[in-house]
Amino acid sequence: MKYDNKNKDLQLVVLVVDDDMMERLLVREALERADIRVEEAENGAEALSVFRRVSPDLIFLDVRMPVVDGFSSCANLRKETGGEDVPIIMVTGLDDIESIERAYEVGATDFITKPINWPTLHHRVRYMIRASRAFQGLQKSEARLSQAQRIAHIGHWRHNLQTNVLYWSDEIYRIFGLEKSAGILSYEKFMKSVHPNDRPAMREVLNDAISENKSYNIDFRVVLPDGRGCVVQQQGEIVFDDAEKSPQMIGTIQDITQQKKDEEKILDLAYYDSLTGLPNRQNFLNYTSRTLSRAKQTGTKATLIYLDLDGFKHINDTAGHGAGDEALKIIADLLNNQLRNSDIVARIKTEKDEMVPLARLGGDEFTILLPNISKQESIAKVARRILDVISQPTMVEGREYYIPGSMGITIYPEDGQDVETLLKHSDMAMYAAKKKGGNCFQFYSESMNIQVLKRLNMETRLRKAIARDELALHYQPLMDIKTGKILGFEALARWENADLGLVSPSDFIPLAEEAGLILSIGEWALRNACAQTKVWQEETGVDLTVAVNVSALQFKQDYLVKTVAAVIKETTLNPRSLKLELTESILMENIEEIVKKLLQLKEIGVGHSIDDFGTGYSSLGYLKRFPIDSVKIDKSFVQDMLTDPDDAAIIRAIIALSHNLRLKVIAEGVETDEQLQYLMTHDCDTIQGYLIASPLPPEDVIPFLNCHRSKESH
Ligand code: C2E
Ligand code: MG
Ligand code: MG
Repeated sequence: MKYDNKNKDLQLVVLVVDDDMMERLLVREALERADIRVEEAENGAEALSVFRRVSPDLIFLDVRMPVVDGFSSCANLRKETGGEDVPIIMVTGLDDIESIERAYEVGATDFITKPINWPTLHHRVRYMIRASRAFQGLQKSEARLSQAQRIAHIGHWRHNLQTNVLYWSDEIYRIFGLEKSAGILSYEKFMKSVHPNDRPAMREVLNDAISENKSYNIDFRVVLPDGRGCVVQQQGEIVFDDAEKSPQMIGTIQDITQQKKDEEKILDLAYYDSLTGLPNRQNFLNYTSRTLSRAKQTGTKATLIYLDLDGFKHINDTAGHGAGDEALKIIADLLNNQLRNSDIVARIKTEKDEMVPLARLGGDEFTILLPNISKQESIAKVARRILDVISQPTMVEGREYYIPGSMGITIYPEDGQDVETLLKHSDMAMYAAKKKGGNCFQFYSESMNIQVLKRLNMETRLRKAIARDELALHYQPLMDIKTGKILGFEALARWENADLGLVSPSDFIPLAEEAGLILSIGEWALRNACAQTKVWQEETGVDLTVAVNVSALQFKQDYLVKTVAAVIKETTLNPRSLKLELTESILMENIEEIVKKLLQLKEIGVGHSIDDFGTGYSSLGYLKRFPIDSVKIDKSFVQDMLTDPDDAAIIRAIIALSHNLRLKVIAEGVETDEQLQYLMTHDCDTIQGYLIASPLPPEDVIPFLNCHRSKESH
């Protein structure tokens, strides 16, 4: 035997099923000589068990066997796993046509007639095995292709342009929702599935491709048999098939319905506000740019309305962001309805059913574009109507709110040539409407721009002012009302600019706060005031105090306590001589944090007064929560107390309560003897005001003190 053990895995195995031992032996002889291993089975039952054990590459099956004949045996083998593909060769008698036919019916691969040609048998076996493997490989790759096509929702097709016969792969039938058994396909049948509106384009593309012999790519809609639709992409090109000698069009069809939906979703995210569904800023900018360039061509006008809700922050802060979102949705709906129903906007909608040009820019800001309108009266009417609608009482999460808005209005081309400018100017006008108290609209005017430019200009100068030493501190004395002694001074900032002249702190401090410059200005004032006071203390031998104003922004800084401590150390001023003046607004938020900071400052030895007391929102009662030393009654009360009994009552109440809490009371803005008398009668502790002296430049302080002392002694 030439059986080679090393080649066992590669060696072909043939199963011979025959009840005749002689026949089996002859086959074995013939095949083993050609290095083919042979396994034997005597009957159908044995054939199954050997098949399971050895998985042969080919089976010889005798037709005529007792008990289970070759046909049943063949059928049984085909049911085995791995039995579907194995080549089965039926051995029949010569001219046994009936057997041959039955053999194919039960799944035989081929037949061989007796007497067998032994010398060529092994060639036949090898050929059969090779052919069957090639066939299986083809089947597998086809299956894989069809699987890949199914996953990618892509199918291929071939159209014979001469015979008009169309071939589709399985996946195209699936995409088009059609049965494969629907008969021979044709171009006309295909066109029936194409959405009627897409057919002309489809025809044109195909005709061009044929006449110019070029490839093409087209997206179109397919109408499925159940009436639903899908979107597909078809690619195709012409080929000349040598075998068929006729032009063919081949190509692919891919179902891109999901892809299209995703694209739309992405587009939605990019161009629509997800909360309200309104066009977003980008969308608005694009739309407005297009509208403006059209207006330019036609010489027409357009109006841009910028709407900002009044007090919206209040809803967010008190009822939470959920309620805020809800309110924005309600407002968006109200605006949308109002604009859709408006006769003015109806005219805009004619153009290819475009959205009402209403957008949410972000936060509580909305914009409205009214092309073709520029008459102020018409715009004013629309604006007023919109404001009235949105300020109706609105239920948000079970609570009733009034949400008015402020509008700024610009007109193209007068107020700006492009969207950006129009938006900027509308924003300025809106700001002016807010300043008027809200729930109103304001047309833009050039003067607003000038004001803003002035502010910007001032901000730039203020930045330089610090470096150029243009800031100075003036000092206003504080006098003990009972003894008439000067206790100390309040340091008040002054800005002397060559172009602007003397700028009042009421003008530049708010600006410095907005620009964040107040932090450096504040620190500069603190250091300067402490150093200066130390000098005066040494010169006069009097423990003069100094009050320094601290802005809210400054107070919020974590390093405030450290800065104060450092300045005290640097200037060697007794910390008890320093009083920080805080406005009421500082005390409004985050009470625990503030108390902590005030206590830390107290620990250093520094005192605190509440400045401008009575002008804020605070009640007298909240004073006791804070570790402070004194209260400065705002000058507006002092100025009116002799004519306005309410103001007088407020002053008396502040004094009484403060003393109750062991706080000193300072009255600022005292200008007359009568005011001094009244305050003295009502037990006020300290006064500050023009009556004693206006804020003095540092060089005037010592002369003032000397003069005052000599007056005192008289
Ligand atoms: P304030 O702290 O309430 O200062 C008192 C203001 O009243 C000063 O105005 C002062 O000149 C003015 N004044 C004094 N006596 C009288 C009077 O008899 N009648 C009238 N009508 N007014 C009087 P000024 O100097 O214009 O300062 C305005 C505000 O600017 C200050 O109000 C203070 O809040 C702020 N400020 C000034 N300097 C600074 C500073 O260095 N830092 C900070 N954060 N704010 C400062
Ligand atoms: Mg002050
Ligand atoms: Mg004040």
